[in-house]
Amino acid sequence: MVWMRGRRSALLWSWAILVALLLLAPFAQAEDSRLNQVQWASADQHVSPVEALDLDYRPMSRATLNLGPFQGHVWLRLRVDGGEIRDGRWLSVRWPYFRDFRLYLVGPEGPGGEPILLELREAERPGGLLAMPSDPGRLLPMFEGEREFLLHLSADGPTAMRLTLGSLEDERTRMLVRYLLFGVYLGAMLGMAAYSLFLMLAVRERTYLGYAAFLAATVLYIGLRYNILTPLLPGVLQSIPPAGHAQLAVALMVLSGIWFVRRFLRTRSDDRLLDPVLLGIMGLAVFSVPASAWLPGVISFEIVAAIAIAAVLCILWAAWRAMRRGFHPAFNLLVGWAVFAAAVLLYLGLLLGVLPYAAWLTVALPLGSLAQALLLAFALGSRIRHKQREEAVLERERDRYRFLSEQDGLTGLYNRRALDRRLEQAIATASRNHQPLSLVVLDTDLFKDYNDRYGHLAGDDALRCLARVMRATVRHEDMCFRYGGEEFVILLPGQNLSQATVVAERIREAYRTGSASELGPGGTVSLGVAELRDGDTANTLLARADAALYHAKQRGRDRVELAH
Ligand code: GH3
Ligand code: MG
Ligand code: MG
Repeated sequence: MVWMRGRRSALLWSWAILVALLLLAPFAQAEDSRLNQVQWASADQHVSPVEALDLDYRPMSRATLNLGPFQGHVWLRLRVDGGEIRDGRWLSVRWPYFRDFRLYLVGPEGPGGEPILLELREAERPGGLLAMPSDPGRLLPMFEGEREFLLHLSADGPTAMRLTLGSLEDERTRMLVRYLLFGVYLGAMLGMAAYSLFLMLAVRERTYLGYAAFLAATVLYIGLRYNILTPLLPGVLQSIPPAGHAQLAVALMVLSGIWFVRRFLRTRSDDRLLDPVLLGIMGLAVFSVPASAWLPGVISFEIVAAIAIAAVLCILWAAWRAMRRGFHPAFNLLVGWAVFAAAVLLYLGLLLGVLPYAAWLTVALPLGSLAQALLLAFALGSRIRHKQREEAVLERERDRYRFLSEQDGLTGLYNRRALDRRLEQAIATASRNHQPLSLVVLDTDLFKDYNDRYGHLAGDDALRCLARVMRATVRHEDMCFRYGGEEFVILLPGQNLSQATVVAERIREAYRTGSASELGPGGTVSLGVAELRDGDTANTLLARADAALYHAKQRGRDRVELAH
């Protein structure tokens, strides 16, 4: 039970990964006491910062906010104590979906009672990493006492975000850790992709190419989503907004993921119900890319999210159905995709605003995809074993059909078709190995009379009896054929003319005595023997043995004659 072993280790792995996820979960969510007085308000229309001060503000819990997909403007008001932030003045928003980031210092009221707002432009970014994108942020000025700031973000898509305040050093470290983790992730994924390509070469099956493509698409999505691969994109792609990148990468994930699963589970031939559904989802993924160019960001995000959810759920369903069909490798595939589906649902739960902002949810996807890659490695292995077993069964079936197609129904000996094939083979082998090969042609004497006297059924019995006698007389490597009605051929590899003559004599003798005891008197056979000569073909060898048989008949039957 090889697949049971794979099954247990896959379960073990999935548990280990789950435990690791749970241990990692409470990480992050570090509370920032300096940002405990943040308030937020939203507006559909653009308003000036001064007007924004009059919006209806509500407290933001733990400096996090998640409005789900939202098109419009988010305003944040925060009071900060200048003394508290002396060595941590970098204010940033953890979320890359916002398109605009403007920060205003709310000054003292002017002479007319109007508040004065001073926009703080980008002055300094985390040093050394300037070329790399980081989350949008601003360095706050130095000041004494408490001051109020107003932050404007315009959104067209998911809004899950967290506000942080820290030193540039913190920001630098955080980014380095981000790149490091992505490097580890990338390395692991590349390793898995290399493994699957290696498997593809080993078993010559393109399913594994689909898997490697899926891993590449996932890495692309995560690299773009976390703003890591963006600077590496060619100029043309750089001009597409981040949401467009994400959409393209998700479409690629859906296409390659479903392509891989359809081939893995062979849904095209084995699952007539779900295969069209999976194809339909692939079609939607293709259309979602151009559609995202003219649809509002929120709408196209919701479409892509729906496609992704449909894709993972249908893949799970298809794997489940394949397992029920008795396709064992589907189990490992199901476990791998279940972990990934959980990660996708958690992550989309965050983006869709169903779940509150939590830092660990923002990394659910890379963690889930890493776990999935490990688990799917088992699935790929078990599928190869399954395929090998299937091929062995097929080979046995083929052998059985060949055996049946070469068998004579009456006597159980080889039939004439088998003689055509095997005589050629035997001649080739004998010539190659410079070994003798002899052939005996046997014909039942006056069989017409025998039939007339005892009836056709008794004649059949006599032929069966003769076949038994032949089989019992020859060696294992010799072959007996029913050549025609009551004519037979015996092929004797490795036997020269005199050795073959001995065998022929033995058959003649054995049949006469054997058939006499079994069937009553009257059964004899004549035989002609020939040995392979240089330049012989199957036809010439048979013809010479036939000529010898003719002589045996001429000379009174019940005898063996040798070919010249
Ligand atoms: P000879 O000694 O010259 O070979 O005489 P023969 O009668 O055996 O030769 P002939 O070729 O004239 O007749 C062959 C007979 O074998 C005719 C046919 O009825 C019989 N025969 C051929 N196939 C079968 C079979 O499958 N079952 C039975 N019972 N008889 C068969
Ligand atoms: Mg005959
Ligand atoms: Mg005959």
